[in-house]
Amino acid sequence: LTSAIVVGGAVGGLAAARALAACGVEVTVLERRPPGQAEGAGLLLYPPAAQALVRLDALDAFRARSVALTGIATYDQRGRVLNEFDATGFESKYGHPLAGVHRADLMAALAVEVRRGVEVTDVAVGDQARARTPQGWLAADLLVGADGIRSRVREALGLGAEPRRSGWVAWRGITDAPAGFDATTAGVVVGRGRHGGWVPVADGRVYWFLTGNAGETAIPDAIERWATPLPQLIAATPSETLLLNELADRDPDARWGRGPVTLVGDAAHAMLPSLAQGANQALEDAAVLLAEMTARGPSEAAFRAYERRRAARTARIVRLSRQVMPVFQWRRAPARGLRGRLLAIPQRFTDRQGEWLYRGGL
Ligand SMILES: Cc1cc2nc3c(=O)[nH]c(=O)nc-3n(C[C@H](O)[C@H](O)[C@H](O)COP(=O)(O)OP(=O)(O)OC[C@H]3O[C@@H](n4cnc5c(N)ncnc54)[C@H](O)[C@@H]3O)c2cc1C
Repeated sequence: LTSAIVVGGAVGGLAAARALAACGVEVTVLERRPPGQAEGAGLLLYPPAAQALVRLDALDAFRARSVALTGIATYDQRGRVLNEFDATGFESKYGHPLAGVHRADLMAALAVEVRRGVEVTDVAVGDQARARTPQGWLAADLLVGADGIRSRVREALGLGAEPRRSGWVAWRGITDAPAGFDATTAGVVVGRGRHGGWVPVADGRVYWFLTGNAGETAIPDAIERWATPLPQLIAATPSETLLLNELADRDPDARWGRGPVTLVGDAAHAMLPSLAQGANQALEDAAVLLAEMTARGPSEAAFRAYERRRAARTARIVRLSRQVMPVFQWRRAPARGLRGRLLAIPQRFTDRQGEWLYRGGL
């Protein structure tokens, strides 16, 4: 029996573990976070992620824990609608709707057993892969690093490339939807030098986010005047449950593995959240990994084939996310005016540009 260690038990790690298990591999998932810690935020998932969940045999569990969305409305801070992105055609065009999901619900849908509270501090690559834990070294035939943007596995492989700090941060929270809230549409608000938004998730809850500048620790009072649901969502969220993260990405690599080791998710291709694609790409990674392991057997050859198939698409998304992010953060009036005009371009003219992203690369 082939054995594998997966380092990191979040979206990428669980999806990769499912792919390995589907190929008959005996998998051990190691996650440094202790048991019982809440999984903070929500996610917007596009049709290719749902296609990946079909391959991973987790679509029904996902559907039961997520909500189908009709689109994304973009507002300015005065509440004027700048753009209404209609996603009602997604299901007929791409087979699946746009969806909102709590990260914890997506992880529950992936249903993989995880050894929590185990931090991997080093990885050694030889005929086998070995992971150092506080309990000693563990060995396996294969190892997948799914340990996020500051990946230890990546570092141990000598792949380098420090994350690139963007100078921005984001707060995230989850709260119950207020009375009268439209729970079928996601929202984005582009303000002066920052943006925010919300995504309805299951059980009448809403995930929201707001960006800021590095060094900011408190949400500025001025947000209260944004004439959209965002201030109400922020006010309803207990402050001790808020997440605050620096936003960073990494220059794309042509490949991200060596010997019996590969990477998935943010460890492989960290990106800024402007296109809401990080978790989507982690799921696509796992589906392609599964396809290559099915074709070649769970092996180094399958890992290299997976990396080759994923490099171009993920690099394109990393670069595009980096280009789009500053536009959402524009501060000065002329730039905001230009942004408003760009957002006013009718969807029939912009739809074809999104095809490659929404149709997927599986
Ligand atoms: C503001 C914001 C909004 C976003 N919105 C979206 C969205 O709408 N849609 C979308 O697709 N993506 C979105 N993303 C991106 C998405 O959250 C990430 O891309 C995704 O979570 C990456 O998953 P991952 O499993 O690769 O890494 P992570 O979620 O970072 O998980 C890595 C896991 O590895 C564990 N770990 C780390 N080091 C070790 C170690 N040494 N030993 C053991 N365990 C370790 C960590 O504890 C963690 O659980 C957003 C990100 C941000 C910041």
